[in-house]
Amino acid sequence: MLGWLLRLLLLFLVVRALMLIVGGLFRGLMGAARVPGEPSERTGGQGGVARSNGTLVQDPVCGTYVLQDRALTMKTSEGTAFFCSERCRSAYDAQAARPH
Ligand SMILES: [Zn+2]
Repeated sequence: MLGWLLRLLLLFLVVRALMLIVGGLFRGLMGAARVPGEPSERTGGQGGVARSNGTLVQDPVCGTYVLQDRALTMKTSEGTAFFCSERCRSAYDAQAARPH
């Protein structure tokens, strides 16, 4: 009666196991071939501010440049915004929340 269901379940498990094995192998190969990451990010129009050990980002509220590592971040509809302080972030948040 339930033979087809059992077979289907078995097939599903086999396919799943195969996918896991193949995925694991693939990941292993990728891991072995990984290069020390230097992500090719967009180079800003304002040259000279980017450093190898810390990208400078601009606070949209006060215009201050901050190190990306130290900046406070907030997800926006356009991406991620960076701020020098909590005050600027909340100010930006209040501005964004307010309808025009
Ligand atoms: Zn600021």
